[in-house]
Amino acid sequence: MSQTSGGAAFKEFIAMLFVLTGVARATRALLWRDRVAILLYHDPDPATLDAHLGYLREMCDFVPLEKARTPGQGRPRAVITLDDGHIGNADLLPVFIKHRVRPTIFLCSGIVGRARTHWWLHPGAKKAGIERLKHMTNAERLAELDAYGYRQDGDDRATGLTVEQIEAMRPYVDFQAHTQFHPVLTRCNDAECENEIVACKREIEQLVGNACSHFAYPNGNYGEREVELVKAAGYTSARTCDVGWNDGSTDPFRLRTIIVDDHASVRWFAAQLTGIPLSFRYLRRGGWGGRFPQF
Ligand SMILES: [Zn+2]
Repeated sequence: MSQTSGGAAFKEFIAMLFVLTGVARATRALLWRDRVAILLYHDPDPATLDAHLGYLREMCDFVPLEKARTPGQGRPRAVITLDDGHIGNADLLPVFIKHRVRPTIFLCSGIVGRARTHWWLHPGAKKAGIERLKHMTNAERLAELDAYGYRQDGDDRATGLTVEQIEAMRPYVDFQAHTQFHPVLTRCNDAECENEIVACKREIEQLVGNACSHFAYPNGNYGEREVELVKAAGYTSARTCDVGWNDGSTDPFRLRTIIVDDHASVRWFAAQLTGIPLSFRYLRRGGWGGRFPQF
């Protein structure tokens, strides 16, 4: 508990430094410019997202994901994305409408619309150690979770958006693909990897009723094999977790992102928009130049 509040105080201190020393403003002018920041959330509460979007709209224009690589007109631009299709995302709809944002939600097609649980939200995953499980081969991870009573295709607590929620959000939200069950793709064998990428596209299209053409790599793990499989499956873009801004020169299958803490205060959010805190977090784990540390 004390560690958490200590961490929060430290973040506030760093964030204040960023604002006072002009780092936040300088980053906007020198790096963001009129390029596109693809912000990545998971399961923020409506009040937090409302405060972030209220702050953001003062400094940039909101654009949909398909505009991530189009030329700008002098103003910074932002795309709002949310990963996994958490059931709590349904409560965000009034916030999207209020701020006139058309976000992209990357869904796990084998979990949403069913009584299933995202694997890392199962109590067994916490006991086994989520980071430890991520580093195992896919088969090893599933075997270990099975011992805790978790099956990725078995009925359990529903942690994903329901069919009715997706239907209600469809006019305001762009739904795209994030695999079926959210394995770490680089820890899958070829057949598992291909199936997760191909089946997800088909299932999202059936669920949502229009073309699914954008992909997001689960946990930010990808390599040449994953990029080639995503292209072969017919997607036109894929978002990584590598830090940065996007323009016409960005590889569409390696779109860059700024991960935002779902619970960030507005001040910490402003600091996160510089990309610096995330780059440092990666650096500590061996990822240079804003690159997500791959495994
Ligand atoms: Zn995810």
